[in-house]
Amino acid sequence: MTTYLGMPSAPPPAPRGVGHLRGSEPFPVAARRALADSQLRRNLGNATATIRAKRAAAVAELPDWEQLREAGRAIKAEAMRHLDTHLLRLEAEVQARGGTVHWARDAAEANQIVTGLVQATGADSAVKVKSMVTDEIGLNDALAAAGITAYETDLAELIVQLGHDRPSHFLVPAIHRNRAEIREIFLREMDDVDPALTDNPPALTEAARLHLRKIFLSARVGISGVNFAVAETGTLSVVESEGNGRMCVTLPQTLITVMGIEKVIPSWQDLGVFLQLLPRSSTAERMNPYTSMWTGVTPGDGPQEFHLVLLDNGRTAALADQTGRQALHCIRCSACLNVCPVYERTGGHAYGSVYPGPIGAVLSPLLTGVQDNATLPYASSLCGACYDACPVKIDIPSLLVYLRARHVEESRHDHRVPSAEALTMAAAAWVMADPRRFAAAQRAGKSGRVLSRGGRMRALPPPLSAWTRARDAPAPPAATFRQWWRESGRERS
Ligand code: SF4
Repeated sequence: MTTYLGMPSAPPPAPRGVGHLRGSEPFPVAARRALADSQLRRNLGNATATIRAKRAAAVAELPDWEQLREAGRAIKAEAMRHLDTHLLRLEAEVQARGGTVHWARDAAEANQIVTGLVQATGADSAVKVKSMVTDEIGLNDALAAAGITAYETDLAELIVQLGHDRPSHFLVPAIHRNRAEIREIFLREMDDVDPALTDNPPALTEAARLHLRKIFLSARVGISGVNFAVAETGTLSVVESEGNGRMCVTLPQTLITVMGIEKVIPSWQDLGVFLQLLPRSSTAERMNPYTSMWTGVTPGDGPQEFHLVLLDNGRTAALADQTGRQALHCIRCSACLNVCPVYERTGGHAYGSVYPGPIGAVLSPLLTGVQDNATLPYASSLCGACYDACPVKIDIPSLLVYLRARHVEESRHDHRVPSAEALTMAAAAWVMADPRRFAAAQRAGKSGRVLSRGGRMRALPPPLSAWTRARDAPAPPAATFRQWWRESGRERS
């Protein structure tokens, strides 16, 4: 245990079985396709603008919001500093109260454990409350391969599952869908739906409720994630808005909870801070409608068998990185997604990872190793809006810059042949090291004015075309600074 959570000075290699964390194609390629989808951009623009305005109002109600943020940051930093101690305490408390704790090094191990546990009950299906960590490990696919059907019960996750789609937002996984699209999915995929279903939100919700109710009442196994795990009592907590999570963790006979090891917090008192920070930052509510908590097993009340699967899957590698480890403080509120100008235009699918948006752009490379998600740290304008919005003050812009530097460093070691960027930088350094070379380069650069229109250059020849593929460049001035200095007579004065 101590060895497993030890903190070597250099991050260990990413573990086997990183699940659905690795992008299938580079971000720039996926983003270009997303940007061409005007319906997607409209859906995202409307949804993020609404959530942003509501969140700002909810946060403004609290005069001590900044102090709460600082408290959240400090609690998470302390929890990460002594993670091994808190996890062992959590394990002991859960087991003392009748639960069983399993440790999984990676996605493959976690899937094997959960599949085996479901099979041991004799069930061929399970109900699930929205859980990003089970998306991360690809649990639904692993269960399906073993002949077990996983039913998503969160409304948005249900839409994603029925649409054979992927989530694109932490909190609103179907944010890229509008009402008309959801109605079509329900009519196509639900065998018990009213054919006269309209796209009125209450009607869509009622259709989902009726569909899920039968599934809930016959479920023998529930599978959940965790928002917070309190080490001092062994209590697990899930916060949600619909009540489906409450049914998942109370109705079935067996409950299996999969938890990333960074979700542990030391005490009940700490939980009070996060239960204020999370709802206002995520759904812009003062309090979550449903906050479910359970501690081990209670005879005659709720599930009579409880298993907690503690998942690493790259987290100890991130923890070992003294700079990167603050990404593990994330409470998955999604505030950084909603304020990000890049996310608002591309949506979550372009990131190619279960964790999209600004935090996904740092968390995914930290979990998999930078080379496996190399384009994500560049998927940002570094405007800083994510840092301002984050309820636990994760400095995402600095992490992005840090990961870009790591990527450059690691690429330097990996490639014997220098990259085009390295060659360009070396040439620039050579030119700038000598005043005559620099002046000659400036004179040559002025010829670029023929490519400009309205003071901007929209397309440069290779290799500079990489810059103008996504943005324009200012036209070179008619005179260099030195010329201007000379011609204005200042040189003599
Ligand atoms: S990084 Fe901060 S703002 Fe973004 S999801 Fe995590 S806690 Fe929320």
